[in-house]
Amino acid sequence: YRAELDYPVHPDLMDWSKLYPEFPNKRVEFADVGCGYGGLLVALGELFPDVLSLGLEIRVKVSQFVMERIKALRLQEPGKHQNVACLRTNAMKYLPNFFYRGQLKKMFFLFPDPHFKESKHEWRIISRSLLSEYAYLLCEGGLVYTVTDVPDLNQWMVKCLDEHPMFERVSQEELDKDPVVPKLWDSSEEGQKVTRNDGPKLLAVYRRVADPFDS
Ligand code: SAM
Repeated sequence: YRAELDYPVHPDLMDWSKLYPEFPNKRVEFADVGCGYGGLLVALGELFPDVLSLGLEIRVKVSQFVMERIKALRLQEPGKHQNVACLRTNAMKYLPNFFYRGQLKKMFFLFPDPHFKESKHEWRIISRSLLSEYAYLLCEGGLVYTVTDVPDLNQWMVKCLDEHPMFERVSQEELDKDPVVPKLWDSSEEGQKVTRNDGPKLLAVYRRVADPFDS
């Protein structure tokens, strides 16, 4: 395998045809950031057959597992799962190399690594500076979904998002109507583990608001 990461210098140069051969003219709209073993990704593909969902995972073995999983599912159920794919990348560094401004409609951060130490907080995948990047990549009205079983991390993510001028919290009434929300608890492998351990699951969803400098 190659330890170094390949990434295009600009989204124009990304060849998506190998990932989504059946959808040559479509763009990725949903990103599962740190997708792990891909449980949520597969669920998203089934729930939104007309949307391309991409899992982003930094670990070589884990990303290979997800690629194999998708390949097997496509063979088992011909015509299905063509709208999901996994890419090995560092999502904290290269997202703007893959996606255009405003391209994404939903970004998922399920059970991100907590990085408990104070000095490591800037390594968290939700941080003030990364939120500005996510705001750039999301369309107006696009959503960021976060789930964690770590209360301290939940508070941190909520604080970063509350303070960020480009995001507003989505109300409970709206979440009650969102078909994605029921999938957030148990479709990912980490979510299933937390269920087995009777852990808490803390959800926070935010909307990318209009850019005040766009008219
Ligand atoms: N979301 C999955 C789930 O709910 O089962 C996985 C959760 S796991 C605790 C966090 C995942 O994020 C790990 O698989 C890890 O390799 C991945 N990850 C951490 N930092 C990353 C980064 N910078 N880019 C892409 N993936 C990352």
